Amino acid sequence: KSSIRLDKLLAHTGFGTRSQIKLLVKAGSVTVNGKTAKDSGQQIVPERDNVQVDGETVRYREFVYLMLHKPPGVVSATEDNRDRTVLDLLDEEYAHLELFPVGRLDKDTEGLLLLTNDGKLSHNLLSPRKHVPKTYYADVEGAVDESDIEAFAQGVTLDDGYVTMPAELRILHRGDPAAGDLSRIELTIREGKFHQVKRMFQAVGKRVVYLKRLSMGPLKLDPQLPLGEARELTEEELEGLR
Ligand code: URA
Repeated sequence: KSSIRLDKLLAHTGFGTRSQIKLLVKAGSVTVNGKTAKDSGQQIVPERDNVQVDGETVRYREFVYLMLHKPPGVVSATEDNRDRTVLDLLDEEYAHLELFPVGRLDKDTEGLLLLTNDGKLSHNLLSPRKHVPKTYYADVEGAVDESDIEAFAQGVTLDDGYVTMPAELRILHRGDPAAGDLSRIELTIREGKFHQVKRMFQAVGKRVVYLKRLSMGPLKLDPQLPLGEARELTEEELEGLR
């Protein structure tokens, strides 16, 4: 079982800054398993230890939900021998929470990635039967046109023979390959095969050179959230996912 410093646990549950918490502890307001805490750096195992402030048990929240604006160059895993993972981007306060990414983005893909420790919510969002729509923005080499909209609406055959479900392609800009001009598109898919967006374009003879996820179900990437940063979901965003 993972442990967390007492001051961190209290900071995380809204009892102020570390120095304010230090004062609380000094004042004798904090108990751990019935004993007055002496050291705000004491290690706590939230599942095991009862922490009280002024006689009130501290409810350490079980689940955390973060929206990450994933940058390129990090992998959507919790551990990796070679590469930095999305967990390495988070503040230390989230380190002990056993968060994991809900689904995957390729190492070079950017955009919305939900991180949580709520296995049930993750399972529901990823369930193939739920067909949760995911919308991507992409820069594509080649002139994306009406025939691609039609092909993606019908379903295209990937390199392994899999036929994709109907997907919506919107052309924001039709590129001119002769001028080195990329096409800009948005694509909504309702499944999540390995490298799916890249392989769908490959199936129509085009190449994705930049890919960013914009949304997952009702959850949209916050345009204010800088690349590489994470924030907790609002109540409203969380309700939308449930
Ligand atoms: N499709 C891809 O090809 N890559 C991703 O990261 C996500 C969807």
